[in-house]
Amino acid sequence: MSLASSSLYSLRQKLVTGEISSREIIQDVIDQITTRDEEIGAFLSFDPETALTAADQADLALPLGGLPIGIKDNINVKGQPCTCASKFLEGAFTSPYDATAVIRLKAAGAIPFGRTNLDEFAMGSSTENSGLQTTHNPSAPGHIPGGSSGGSAAAVAGQLIPATLGSDTGGSIRQPASHCGVVGLKPSYGRVSRYGLVAFGSSLDQIGPLTHTVHDAALLLNAIAGEDPRDSTSLDESVPDFTDDLDRGVVGMKLGIPKEYFTDGISPQVRERVEAAAKKLEEQGAEIVEISLPHTEYAVATYYIIAPAEASSNLSRFDGVRYGNRADNPEDMLSLYKKSREAGFGSEVKRRIILGTYVLSSGYYDAYYLRAQKVRTLIRRDFEEAFKQVDAILTPVAPETAPVMGDATGDPLKHYLADIFTISANLAGNCGISVPLEPIDGKPVGLQILGPYLGEKEILRCARTVEANQQVFPMKQSTI
Ligand code: GLN
Repeated sequence: MSLASSSLYSLRQKLVTGEISSREIIQDVIDQITTRDEEIGAFLSFDPETALTAADQADLALPLGGLPIGIKDNINVKGQPCTCASKFLEGAFTSPYDATAVIRLKAAGAIPFGRTNLDEFAMGSSTENSGLQTTHNPSAPGHIPGGSSGGSAAAVAGQLIPATLGSDTGGSIRQPASHCGVVGLKPSYGRVSRYGLVAFGSSLDQIGPLTHTVHDAALLLNAIAGEDPRDSTSLDESVPDFTDDLDRGVVGMKLGIPKEYFTDGISPQVRERVEAAAKKLEEQGAEIVEISLPHTEYAVATYYIIAPAEASSNLSRFDGVRYGNRADNPEDMLSLYKKSREAGFGSEVKRRIILGTYVLSSGYYDAYYLRAQKVRTLIRRDFEEAFKQVDAILTPVAPETAPVMGDATGDPLKHYLADIFTISANLAGNCGISVPLEPIDGKPVGLQILGPYLGEKEILRCARTVEANQQVFPMKQSTI
């Protein structure tokens, strides 16, 4: 096993005993990316020299001392490009500051390494909407890696780097984690500061880890969680040690299966895997109960009003004046905006801006945006009711395993509908994790465990039990 393919935990053990050095880890990550990422396409850029210098200065006494973490290219890292996989920012923007999550990683001793690919501005679920590069699924050749954090998931699954950060607005950490066969955690809204994350849907966005193991996800959450005066939506809550109790098992835990999630649209094999995982947890002492989340059928429509509405507002700052590339020879100010936005944004981003502007426009605001906000409240209440009965909820992450590349391009609705199981947690603000199950015909599939607000410890503990049942890590060497 190469250093780049190891878990953070095992690397840390070897670092503290002096068996390996941080420089050796970084050098291996550089070698893996240089030799194999041309085929995977996980990284948009990386800066070997800065990372090697940081490795030589790493404080190994810190919890993540000397460990490299890949960063999705919509999270600012000082002195590095931040493209959001958009032509708008390509070659035209260097971050003047670190996102709070990056500051905290550095404070924990970690070394932010490289910028991972995504759907442009995190809009999509395949990474095929990247304006800059194609990312392949290293665990299922010929298939999409999922998205929007497809580069972050592929980088870990492809064993290029031990762990990465992604962002999740409607499933963008959990779904690519499921499709690539890694662990992906979306923290509760407000658990991790959004300062320095390029905003997509501000009331939905969260930063979180993608890792080989549940323990590694807990280690990263320990580092990045906590209140931040720079993000007024971050929570003034104490941050527990998320690695505590991981191996306590599920005896006495009450786990819900929402009946609305097991309808016609889901592949029989995905259903079978989730049910088998639930059965195993039951044998291990959990109580499994059927629950109802009655407003599930409205989640896709609600999300695809609220997220584009927020995006249309957030993306108005990309005007050719303040950030990124500027169109040549505009006739006047308005033409500068129009030409810059026409050339800079890809078609999915334009679709969201048009949709979002429409649902916020006078005359349609009440019919769409306001109504969607009301339905959002109903979806949140569904979860509040459910979590009065159960400690966590078990669901599929996506209705199917990773689609073949190019399968749904040109059919955005198909992509939108496949978000059905992940978006409710963002609308409600709950936490959720995807943990790998036994692959289906060689293709990875994840179990989603949803927790109550600030219930990260419960879902991590449950995910750790599922992980121990599967023994999927360490994986076989990637086939790509
Ligand atoms: N697939 C969803 C979308 O396209 C979620 C994206 C995300 O979580 N960033 O909006």
